[in-house]
Amino acid sequence: MKNICLILIITQCTLMDAASFSKDNIYGGVSPFNYLTGRFDPSRHSRFISLRSSGIPSDSKRHFLRKETVRALRKMYKDFHKRYPKIKFRVRSSTRNFYSQKYIWEKKWNSKRYNKNVKSALEKAKRILRYSSMPGTSRHHWGTDFDINVLTNEYYNSGNGKIIYQWLKRNGWKYGFCQPYNSGRKSGYMEEKWHWSYYPLARRFLKDWNKLYRKHKNLFLKRNIFKGSSSSGHLAPIYVNSINKDCK
Ligand SMILES: [Zn+2]
Repeated sequence: MKNICLILIITQCTLMDAASFSKDNIYGGVSPFNYLTGRFDPSRHSRFISLRSSGIPSDSKRHFLRKETVRALRKMYKDFHKRYPKIKFRVRSSTRNFYSQKYIWEKKWNSKRYNKNVKSALEKAKRILRYSSMPGTSRHHWGTDFDINVLTNEYYNSGNGKIIYQWLKRNGWKYGFCQPYNSGRKSGYMEEKWHWSYYPLARRFLKDWNKLYRKHKNLFLKRNIFKGSSSSGHLAPIYVNSINKDCK
């Protein structure tokens, strides 16, 4: 019954959003709410394209990103590859929908590691939030963000990892890419040297996500959206907005 109610609320607000948000059809037929919270299938969305078919190295054929992101990424990859033909550059993670983010979140929520000596649901959520987003709040929902090579900061401190990271920091902006979770921020997720974002599109999605949250806060705070949603949903705007200022 609860689930039916939630579906009804989401349907209602997707109809309102469609009218009040997007006149340029940037969401390609999906409502802004469903798009920005990852409730769609990128492999069937007209604005997305697979990385494999675009000549961008990736670790599986299931990687999809927005066409605009792919165009810019292909240019950037080509130039990097020309300069450093022997260094591997590979996409490891791309668009993740609400349900795959929910799987990641709840796997951590139930794991021993995140439950050890934990005193409250909020404390557990904050532990997970060091590196993982709540479902419905991840930039990976938007088709603009992706992870490369190795998902540890150490890898980027020496050798090939350092070369890639320094090159991206120097040149990424020329193609439209920034590192949203850089060092030196006072709140939000920990630093992620492997996570890059196509900001010409992502900054528009960020603005719209904030509008949605203000309008439909209850849909992020409700019990049973995902495990812990009622105790941690209020943190969403802090994590979504605590990003590198170059990405805004
Ligand atoms: Zn990421």
